[in-house]
Amino acid sequence: MRPNILNPLFAPITVLPGIGQRLAKLAEKLAGPLVVDLIGHLPSGLIDRRHQPHLSTAEGGIATIVVRVERHMKSHNPRQPYKVRCSDSTGFIDLVFFNAREDYLLRALPLGQMRAVSGRIDRFGGELNMVHPDHIVPADELAKIQIMEPVYPLTAGLAPKILRKAIEAALERVPKVPEWIGAAVVKQRQWTGWRESLLAAQHPQSEGDLSALSPARMRLAYDELLSNQLALALVRLRNKRKAGRPNKGNGALRRRVVGALPYKLTHSQEQAVSEIIADMAESTRMLRLLQGDVGSGKTVVALLAMANAVEAGGQAALLAPTDILARQHFATLEPLCKQVGLEIALLTGRDKGKARDATLAHLASGDLKLIVGTHALMQEDVAFSDLRLAIVDEQHRFGVEQRMALADKGAGVDLLVMTATPIPRTLMMTAYGDIDVSRLTEKPAGRQPIDTRTVPLERLHEVADALKRAIVQGARIYWVCPLVDESEVIDLAAATERHRMLRQMFGERVGLVHGKQKSAERDATMAAFAAGDLDILVATTVIEVGVNVPEATVMVVEHAERFGLAQLHQLRGRVGRGLAKSSCVLLYQAPLGETAKARLQILRETEDGFRIAEEDLRLRGGGELLGTRQSGIPEFHYADLAVHGDLLAMARDDARLLVERDPLLKSERGEALRMLLYLFRQDSAIKTLTSG
Ligand code: ADP
Ligand code: MG
Repeated sequence: MRPNILNPLFAPITVLPGIGQRLAKLAEKLAGPLVVDLIGHLPSGLIDRRHQPHLSTAEGGIATIVVRVERHMKSHNPRQPYKVRCSDSTGFIDLVFFNAREDYLLRALPLGQMRAVSGRIDRFGGELNMVHPDHIVPADELAKIQIMEPVYPLTAGLAPKILRKAIEAALERVPKVPEWIGAAVVKQRQWTGWRESLLAAQHPQSEGDLSALSPARMRLAYDELLSNQLALALVRLRNKRKAGRPNKGNGALRRRVVGALPYKLTHSQEQAVSEIIADMAESTRMLRLLQGDVGSGKTVVALLAMANAVEAGGQAALLAPTDILARQHFATLEPLCKQVGLEIALLTGRDKGKARDATLAHLASGDLKLIVGTHALMQEDVAFSDLRLAIVDEQHRFGVEQRMALADKGAGVDLLVMTATPIPRTLMMTAYGDIDVSRLTEKPAGRQPIDTRTVPLERLHEVADALKRAIVQGARIYWVCPLVDESEVIDLAAATERHRMLRQMFGERVGLVHGKQKSAERDATMAAFAAGDLDILVATTVIEVGVNVPEATVMVVEHAERFGLAQLHQLRGRVGRGLAKSSCVLLYQAPLGETAKARLQILRETEDGFRIAEEDLRLRGGGELLGTRQSGIPEFHYADLAVHGDLLAMARDDARLLVERDPLLKSERGEALRMLLYLFRQDSAIKTLTSG
């Protein structure tokens, strides 16, 4: 149960003054539905209202003045502004209002009364004006407005004053909490407590206070990262406690597989295999990520791990996110398996009836050792005789629960997750905590570098001419269409249009695939391209994942500037898979901004996916890195990993220690940490403390 003192923060924002149902919708869009969200809506700017000049010496700019209301000057022409003349002992100023409501102004600025007014003063010759003052209060409330005023990111329809008032009221609900960060760290970093830091971040006194590197914001970022790392550490601890089984093979089958390969394993493939074999031999469950660029050869590593499970007397399953990918894995694995006398089966949503029944019976009896499939593998009637290893490819398309669902079909199943997304170390830590990682860093021997060029769209015809020559030489070409919009419909229109145009230029041998097609139709077109019956394959980004046509040597990406770097890298990885020289043409819409230029330049410089990902993180920040929320990487609110990377490493180390010393968070510090977890909505991690 959440500690009571946090409850005021978990109330809906409608409890705050001035936030009714209508404004709540806007504020929710801005920050979130709860008070705890609003307290985290930090200012992005600052207005200094402390300057208080006499009118005779007032310059232009933001100032706060104390004046006497002399005269209301209502114009008869409605297009002329309403003016209120005011004075101090040294001069006059006109407060100017357009579309004014007279009754309101008479109440706010009663004749003969003293008022404190803050806003931007303009001086025209000898005349002083202030158009639409930001604040008007009775003179004895001067202190209320003569301040450093935070400026918040806004949304249309939500007035700054209302938002600020709501945030102030939200801050009053912030309780005093016990310290959850270690005393030594707090002292060394010269941090204040969570509450004080939050208040400081909300009430900046200088530009420096707005920086992500200010002590207050660093502390809040650290709190967020610590909650993330602690939650992951707790979940991990719980999984470790679930007993695994030592899966130790004798190596015989693996040797046969390696012997059957038409190539030599790369050094990093060998290393990855031995790391996996060592993990599987432990009596705890393996949780390992196999990370390697497209084409780096993950599939054979997976096969060797599977062979190890078979040697140990059990079964193994490989789960792919799409039908195409499952088929492709199967097509790669089956011939190899055949050579070494291993049976392997494929199971997707398309398998039905008798054939499916036979596969399932075979699997349940244990005669069938290996299976590749889609989420069809997780259907209830799919049972294994003794599943020892589950491999999940392209994990970010699966949720944690789905991964577990497959692992739950056996006892103490070892889990290997494969991904082609070159997630930077920092981000990996936020998604998996301390997960073990094997990386395939080399390309298989014989691959040639891909010639990458950036070309402005105006020179499309030159590109087309070059392609014509290449096709004569037998080239096969991917043509990826612009990402026009978030909307699939508009993207599709662009792809269809490009397909039509390319057909006019190149004739019949131009195919089109997109996400809205029936999968049979899409598969048929892809197959035609793979077989060499099409020269050009026009595609929306559906080809991004996993397609393997080694004969394809040219990749054209239109509006490359609109794609994420990681995505471009993935697309480029579709070529350069065979022995022939490949090229990649990135068509862009000129002119390019500085960042866009720098980003495309990185692709020209390197094919190293990890470096590209790190640079992308540096240029764009982590949130956008993978473009979507489906990446499994949490979005941080206070922390910016491009800036706070060192805090993340520190949080990981602290979390590890904390969990080691106090796995149930029972100590005084542990109680405080529970508070932290609730505050950052890591409730599910707390559950692991009780159900374990
Ligand atoms: P990934 O799944 O990592 O994208 P694949 O496993 O599909 O890559 O491998 C891509 C291609 O490289 C396949 O055709 C595979 O046969 C080949 N390959 C894998 N390892 C090697 C190697 N060590 N040397 C040469 N070719 C390899
Ligand atoms: Mg693959």
